[in-house]
Amino acid sequence: SAAVEIQGLQMRYSNGHQALAGVDLRVDSGQLVALVGANGAGKSTLLRCLIRLQEPTAGQARIGGAEVTGVGGRALRRIRRDVGFVFQRFNLVDRLSAFRNVVNGAVAREGTRCVVPALVPSEVRLEAMECLARVGLADLADRRVDRLSGGQQQRVAIARSLMQRPKLILADEPVASLDPVAGQGVMELLRDVATERGITVIAALHQVEFALEHTERIIGLKAGRIVLDQAASLTSAGD
Ligand code: ADP
Ligand code: ADP
Repeated sequence: SAAVEIQGLQMRYSNGHQALAGVDLRVDSGQLVALVGANGAGKSTLLRCLIRLQEPTAGQARIGGAEVTGVGGRALRRIRRDVGFVFQRFNLVDRLSAFRNVVNGAVAREGTRCVVPALVPSEVRLEAMECLARVGLADLADRRVDRLSGGQQQRVAIARSLMQRPKLILADEPVASLDPVAGQGVMELLRDVATERGITVIAALHQVEFALEHTERIIGLKAGRIVLDQAASLTSAGD
């Protein structure tokens, strides 16, 4: 079944720039897909329009069969609850511990606005620790995230998105701020969680080598159009 279906998606910014010029795309459930293309090709715009962090000017999108475009706030929030977003610059709360940042992922899930630390239920604490363990950071749970390395911070961000129990993870240049070794580790982690939990992952990557090595399908964008759609190495490698 389709995790994501996009038809004729267009985005024209207010300055007249056409960042998406009619994108059609279908991504199957559990696929790990790379979106590649030079700076300015429209990768971020596509990911943001897909969950309407930006309002597309034309076209349709569905996530898990649910209409994303043309629906109201309540329906949109329900869809976003199942979608984890991983950013280039992590978007963590610097002053908080890794643990507290991960607990915040549950807030997105429940649709609550804030969490009082003392009132976090024990099962949420337990799950947050499990998510941190999954990304290899159980030992650093209490450390402020601004004292962690870039690679560790991105792992915290992935643990936070896992707290949402997402069906889909959208990652916008998740390794662009990291050194190559940390970047490898983060891509392997994304691949493993996708495989283990059947999560669909779409990652914008400007480095084609990363995409070839760590994903199963490569979609190339150029000037807001899909110019390439091909299998990558994971399909044949098996793991
Ligand atoms: P990528 O993620 O592939 O680098 P983006 O989606 O960020 O590409 O940008 C696509 C194009 O849209 C670029 O030419 C960029 O300059 C332009 N763009 C992005 N955001 C805006 C904006 N808010 N207003 C006008 N143009 C924008
Ligand atoms: P990214 O690395 O995610 O593509 P950029 O560094 O290109 O982001 O852009 C940073 C911010 O500036 C984004 O919010 C983007 O929408 C906006 N932006 C990018 N290009 C333009 C543009 N030509 N005019 C206005 N805003 C832009």
